[in-house]
Amino acid sequence: MKFADRLNNVETSAIRELFKLLGKPGIISFAGGFPDSAMFDVAGIEAATERVLRDEPGAALQYGATEGYQPLREQLSAFMASKGAQDVAPEQLIVTTGSQQALDLLGKTMINPGDRVIVEGPTFLATIQCFRLYGAEVISAPIDSDGVKPDELERLIVEHQPRLVYLIPTFGNPSGATLSLERRRKILELAVKHQVLVVEDDPYGDLYFADAPPPSLLALTPTVPGSREWLAHCGSLSKVLCPGLRIGWLIGHPDLLARATMCKQFSDAHTSTFAQATAAQYLRSGVMPQTLARVRAVYAERARAMGDALRSELGDAVEFVQPQGGLFMWVRLTGARGQERDANALAKRAIEQGVAFVPGSPFFSQNPDPSTLRLSFATADIDRIREGIARLKKALAA
Ligand code: PMP
Repeated sequence: MKFADRLNNVETSAIRELFKLLGKPGIISFAGGFPDSAMFDVAGIEAATERVLRDEPGAALQYGATEGYQPLREQLSAFMASKGAQDVAPEQLIVTTGSQQALDLLGKTMINPGDRVIVEGPTFLATIQCFRLYGAEVISAPIDSDGVKPDELERLIVEHQPRLVYLIPTFGNPSGATLSLERRRKILELAVKHQVLVVEDDPYGDLYFADAPPPSLLALTPTVPGSREWLAHCGSLSKVLCPGLRIGWLIGHPDLLARATMCKQFSDAHTSTFAQATAAQYLRSGVMPQTLARVRAVYAERARAMGDALRSELGDAVEFVQPQGGLFMWVRLTGARGQERDANALAKRAIEQGVAFVPGSPFFSQNPDPSTLRLSFATADIDRIREGIARLKKALAA
C-alpha cells in the first residue's frame, strides 16, 4: 500500500522501542513521562462526574461547540488568572484534546512543507515529530540551566526565518530547565522585533517544589508592548489533574484561534463534552489548590530523593541540575574514571540490571548529545527511587 509522503519525515520513536522492554517483571522505570496515577484525585473526579450527570446531562452527553464547552472555558480563564495571566477572556482560549492537539493544530495552521521552526535542544519529542509531519525542518537552539539563550536564539531566527519558535519555558521536558525572568522578557522582545510566533508550552509550570517559577511568557505579555499578538500559549490539566480526561487549551491571537478551530472541526469536531464538563465541575469545586499542593509535595520529595541518591551513588560519573519542579531530571554522563559516557549503551545495561530510563539523543532535533539521559522521578516511590539508582550504579560499573 502507498502512504502519504509526509510520513517519510518521521519515524516511530526510539523511546517507544525502549518501552517494549519495560514489560520485564520487577523493572524500576524512570523512563515514562507519566504523572503518578496513585495521585489522581479519584474522589474529586467522581464527585464532579456525579454533578455533571445530575445537573447537565443533556449538554455533557451531546455534541458541543468546537471552541470548547463554555463553562470550562470560563473556569480555564479563571485558572489562568490565578496563575498571573489576568486578561484571558473565555473567548480567547479554545479547549483542545490534550495540549498535544494544540501543538498539532499549530502545526496545521502555521507550517508549510519546507518551513523552518526552532525548538530547544533538547525538547519534547512529540513536538519535533508533529512539526516534522507537517514538513518542517526543525532547528535546535541550545539551552543551559536557565533555558534557551536569547542571543543564540536571535541569531537562529535571523538565519532561518522560522515560522515559529517552540519553547517549554518552565520545568522543560526533558531538560527540567526554567527560563529566567530576564530571558523571558528578551524572548518576548525578540518575538515583536522579528515578528515571529513564539509558542509557550506550559504543562509543568504549576508543579513547582518551593518557590513559584517566574511568570509565564503569557503573563508577561502586558509588560512588553505588542508581544501578545506574537505569543501562543498551550496549557494542560494532564500533569496537575490527570491525562485521561485529555483536557488542554490554546490561547492566541483571534486570527490564529479561528483557523485552529476550523482545523479542529474537521479533526475531532470537539473535545469530549463529558470530559470538559467534568473538568469544569472539578475546577468550580475549588479543590484544585489542595490538589496542586499535594502533588507538588510528593514530587518535591521524590526529586530530592533522586538527587541525593544520584550524588551519593554515582558521584562524579554524572552531572545534573537539581530540578525545582516538573517531573524530570536531566543527567549527563561525564565518563569520569573511564565509566560509560554513551547513554544508549548504558540504557541496555540498565535494563539488564532492572532499571529503565530514556537516553537523551531522541530529544534533540539536531546535534544529539549521546552523553545525556532523562530520569523521571514522578512514578516510583522513594524506596524504589533509591533502589533504581543503586541498580543504575551497577549498570555503570558493569
Ligand atoms: N507538552 C509537553 C512538554 C509534554 O511533556 C506533554 C506530555 N508529556 C504534552 C505537551 C502533552 O500533554 P497532553 O496532551 O496530555 O496535554
